[in-house]
Amino acid sequence: MSRQPQFPWSGGAEDSTPRAQPQSQARLERLEERLVQLENALRGVARESSISVDSACPECNQSLLLIRNDVARCPKCHYRYTF
Ligand SMILES: [Zn+2]
Repeated sequence: MSRQPQFPWSGGAEDSTPRAQPQSQARLERLEERLVQLENALRGVARESSISVDSACPECNQSLLLIRNDVARCPKCHYRYTF
């Protein structure tokens, strides 16, 4: 087995790692955009159905709580409480 000579100006294998960044940055921006769209749509739907959107569900943390008639409910799990 012959090893290739290492030249100080060749940079080594670390060169390829930063190249992944622009791609994940673009993906992050798309996700952020989508999140804003979903949030605004959710607020619009909530307003039209006299529901208010509260903080994240303390039980499953996978949805925001929906409040209607003083009752907060999680649409994802069965968590609910009355004010
Ligand atoms: Zn929940």
